[in-house]
Amino acid sequence: MFPEPLERLIRALERFPGVGPRSAERMALHVLRSPREEVAELAVALRDARLHTRRCQECGNITLQSPCPICEDPERDPGMICVVEGPREVEKLESAGIIPGVYHVLLEGLAPREGAEPENRALRALRERVEGGKVREVVIATAPDREGEGAALLVREALQGLTVQLTRLARGVPVGTRLEYLHGEILAEAFRGRRPWLPDEEA
Ligand SMILES: [Zn+2]
Repeated sequence: MFPEPLERLIRALERFPGVGPRSAERMALHVLRSPREEVAELAVALRDARLHTRRCQECGNITLQSPCPICEDPERDPGMICVVEGPREVEKLESAGIIPGVYHVLLEGLAPREGAEPENRALRALRERVEGGKVREVVIATAPDREGEGAALLVREALQGLTVQLTRLARGVPVGTRLEYLHGEILAEAFRGRRPWLPDEEA
C-alpha cells in the first residue's frame, strides 16, 4: 500500500507495546511530516538509548554503568531490598530519600527480543539475591493497582520458602495510584507504616 521504506517503518513501530497498526501508521506519517533534523535526532536517540544504557547486574535498574551508583553506594543497607516496578519509582523514592536499602527493579513490559520473560528473569534474580543470605527484609513497593498487586503476588511466590521478612508499604496510598505520582511525604509515611505481609493474607 505504501512505498517500501514507509511500510518498513510502520512494521517497526508496530512492535512497540500498546501500538496497533493504526497508531503505527499515524506515527510513521508524522515522521514523514517532521523536519529532517528532528528525525535524525530521533534516530540517534533510539540508537544511543539502546547502546549506552544497560540494566544493573544487581538491581536491574536502567543505568549507564553496572553496578549502578545506588548498588555501589557503601552507605546503603544491602540487608533491605525494595522491590519496585520501574526506574520511575526508584527515582521517586530516591528523591524523597526514603529507602535506606537498595532496590530491585522488575521492569515489566520491557520484553527483550530473545523472547525471555523479563519479569521471570527479574524474579529469579531477586530470589538469588535473597538466597545470597545478606537480605533481612524485602519491602514490596509496587503500586496499589491491578498491575502492581499482580507483581506483588509474583514476588511473594518467587520468595516462597526463604527466610526473609516480607513487608509491604502501608495502605495510606490511595488504591489505583501509580507510585510515581505520589507526594514524597505520603510515600515516606507508607514506608514507615510498612507491615509484614503474611502468606495467608489477601492481596
Ligand atoms: Zn543497581
